[in-house]
Amino acid sequence: MSRFQIVGEADPDSDPFDRQRRIEWWKQDALTGARVMVMGAGAIGNEVLKNLALLGVGYMFVADFDEVSRSNLSRTVLFRAGDVGRRKAEVAAERTRDLCVDPGAQVDWFHGDIVWDLGAGVFRRMDLVLGCLDNVETRYAVNRLCWLTGTPWIDAGIFELGVRVNVYVPPLPPCHSCGASSEQRKAGRQRYACDAFKRRAYDAGRVATVQVAAALVGALQAQEAVKLLCGKKPAVGAQVYYQGTLHDFEVIPLQVNPECDAHVSFPEVIPVPLGSGATLREFLVYVGHSDRSGEGVVLELDDRSFLADFPCRNCGNLIRFDRPPFRIFDDEALCAPCRSGRPPAPPPEGVVGAKLGRFSLKETPPRLLDLSLEALGIPPLHVVAVRHRRDGHHYYELSGDEARVLPTLARRPSRAEGGPPSGQGPIAGPTEV
Ligand SMILES: [Zn+2]
Ligand SMILES: [Zn+2]
Repeated sequence: MSRFQIVGEADPDSDPFDRQRRIEWWKQDALTGARVMVMGAGAIGNEVLKNLALLGVGYMFVADFDEVSRSNLSRTVLFRAGDVGRRKAEVAAERTRDLCVDPGAQVDWFHGDIVWDLGAGVFRRMDLVLGCLDNVETRYAVNRLCWLTGTPWIDAGIFELGVRVNVYVPPLPPCHSCGASSEQRKAGRQRYACDAFKRRAYDAGRVATVQVAAALVGALQAQEAVKLLCGKKPAVGAQVYYQGTLHDFEVIPLQVNPECDAHVSFPEVIPVPLGSGATLREFLVYVGHSDRSGEGVVLELDDRSFLADFPCRNCGNLIRFDRPPFRIFDDEALCAPCRSGRPPAPPPEGVVGAKLGRFSLKETPPRLLDLSLEALGIPPLHVVAVRHRRDGHHYYELSGDEARVLPTLARRPSRAEGGPPSGQGPIAGPTEV
C-alpha cells in the first residue's frame, strides 16, 4: 500500500453532474445560474420540469391555471392520484423540488391566467421561457411578452405521435406570430365572445396524445434549452419536427414575416417600488412626481382595456362593471331585470358604454382613481406605459411585487437589474438546413 495519497482528486462518483460535465462544451455553472420559466404544467411541462431538475437548473418558475384531473395521470410523471383537484403549478413545483439534484435549486409557481395575470416583470427576470402549452391564445401572449422583454423562448407541441419544438431568440426574427394564419389568429380568440367578454362554457379542446410523445418533446425541448444556456447553437428560428409513426425527422426553417407586428421590445424599463395593490391615484402621483402634480401623466393600457359601463344587450340600459373585459363573463352583459325575465325599461337615448384605456388625475372619475391597479386589470410585477406631457412615453415596472411573485428567487444580478443573462453565450443566426 502506498504511503502517499493523491490530494485534490475528488471521487467522480460523488458529483451528481460528473457524466454531463464530461461533454466538452458543457457549462454546469450556466445551468446552476439559469432562471427558466415553464409555461404549463401539463404533460409536456411535467417532462420538462423533471428534465431541468435532473440537469441541475438552479431556478425554475412554473405557471398553470388548471387543477390536476384523473385524465392527466397517464401523462404526468410529477402527479399522483391523491393530487386530483389540487393546483397543477403548486404540485408540480413541490415534486420538482424533490427531484432537484442541486440542493440549492429553487422553484416558484404561479396559479392563474398566463395571458392576463402574469406580469411582464416575471419575463424580464428569466433567461429562458419554455412553452409547454395546449392553446393558441397563450402562445401568442407568451410570444409578445418574450419579444417585449427580449427573452428567448422555446415552444413545444404534440399531436398523437407527432412532436415539434420551435426556438425563438428575440430580437432576431422569426417569432411565433410570424407564421400565424388567419385561422390560428381566430382560434386565439376562441375563449371570448364578441365584446371581448369571456365565454363561461368553453371547450378548451382536448388533443389526442400519449405520454411517449410528451416525453419525446420534453426531451427535445430541454436539449435545446441546455444548448442555448451553455452557449451551444440551438435550432434558432427553426422547427425541430419528429413524427413517431413513420420516423420522419426534420429541421424546418421558420419564415420571417416582415409585416409581423410582434417584433416590439420595451425601451428602458424604470422600476418603481409600488406594487399592483397601489391605487391608480397613488401610482399617477408617484410617476408624475417629475411633472409636479402628476396631472401631466397619463397611464395608457396598451395590452388591455377597462370597462366602466356597458349597455345591456337586451334593453340598452347601462350596466356598471368597473372591471376589465377579461374578468366579465358573456352572460353578465344583460342587466338584472332582463336576466330575471321582467320587461326591460326602454333604453335611454344615445346610451354608449365606456371602454377606457387612458387614465389621468385630471380626467379619470375619482371612484376609478381609488381602485387598485390590480382591480384595473394590471397584474403584479407588470410593466405599464405612461405618457408624460413633458417628454413622451416611459415604461414603469411594478417592482414592489417582486417578493410576492418570485418569493425564492435568489438575489443574484438578473437581466432586469442590468446584469447579463446568466450563462448565455452568443446566439447564432437561424439554423441552415
Ligand atoms: Zn414575428
Ligand atoms: Zn336590460
